[in-house]
Amino acid sequence: MLIVMNAGATEAEIAGVVRMVESLGFRAHTMPGATRTAIGVTGNQGAVDLSHFENLPGVAEAIRVTKPYKLITLDLRPDRTIVDIGGAKIGDGSLAIIAGPCAIESRKQAFAVAQVVQHSGAKFFRGGAFKPRTSPYAFAGLGEEALKILADIRDEFGLKIVTEVLDEAGVDLIERYADMIQIGARNMQNFTLLRRAGRSKLPVLLKRGMAATLEEWLLAAEYVMAEGNYQIVLCERGVRTFAQHTRNTLDLAAVPAVRRISHLPVIVDAAHGTGRSYMVTPLARAGAAVGADGIMVEVHARPDEALSDGAQALTLDEFEQMAKEVRAIHQVISRNGS
Ligand code: PEP
Ligand code: MN
Repeated sequence: MLIVMNAGATEAEIAGVVRMVESLGFRAHTMPGATRTAIGVTGNQGAVDLSHFENLPGVAEAIRVTKPYKLITLDLRPDRTIVDIGGAKIGDGSLAIIAGPCAIESRKQAFAVAQVVQHSGAKFFRGGAFKPRTSPYAFAGLGEEALKILADIRDEFGLKIVTEVLDEAGVDLIERYADMIQIGARNMQNFTLLRRAGRSKLPVLLKRGMAATLEEWLLAAEYVMAEGNYQIVLCERGVRTFAQHTRNTLDLAAVPAVRRISHLPVIVDAAHGTGRSYMVTPLARAGAAVGADGIMVEVHARPDEALSDGAQALTLDEFEQMAKEVRAIHQVISRNGS
């Protein structure tokens, strides 16, 4: 159920509705907006009697939700969510650039990339400390040592740190070192991890599973929100198809499709979405053109020596050029009001 308050509803009236929701044993999610506050109700198994709310002071309307989503939708929050990552924003109309190596391999390797990322004007640095690898014998990341390197990069370059968690215990660790929790494609339906991330103070970057429908992906975001963490950025990173010319098929139509349903920002990962470095810049440009709130890419000073995902890494020079190009495209589409 969704309760829409009158435009002029007072704090006390909103609190009254929240109290009623809680007295019925449910959870209230209060979403203030530019014109009105809405309150999403979760925790009810069946339909809630709307008459509990319809006559409370300040209530404009109590609406039964018939869609599978309650919290991620524009019905609850017509204003777009702006995600604040330690002061840097995603979803505020700017184009966020999240760049860095697939994995943190050494201090020297990570710092070389971070310097260029900062110089490009990007605000976000990515790098895996815990890597989900297809083979149990592949390099799985440096773990906490990598998190320390990432924290040093934040101090040295002022970049916000985005890094992946593989499990619930990982969230505790990452909360100590990073600014944003990445939940990877392979974990998009790890529901206990989603719930744990939903109880975190850190914003969440939620990648689309490699075979996930739009609905499954949005419901994964719903898991995080239902626990009270409303700071989520969705990331399209390509899905499995019959195509063999790419590692994954980057589903750029997901960007406008998400926008039509959800208030959450959505970014495009052109690295995993292609798997081939020569395609990364063209698809990053396309991501900016389709109206993404940000672009994620992988960068390595020596892609041929990378311990993971070297085939899709941009060189330092390629990255700098790409950053300029996607910004120019973003400016054009922002001017056109897309
Ligand atoms: C990554 O960002 O390095 C990663 C493992 O991504 P994904 O979960 O999209 O495969
Ligand atoms: Mn990678």
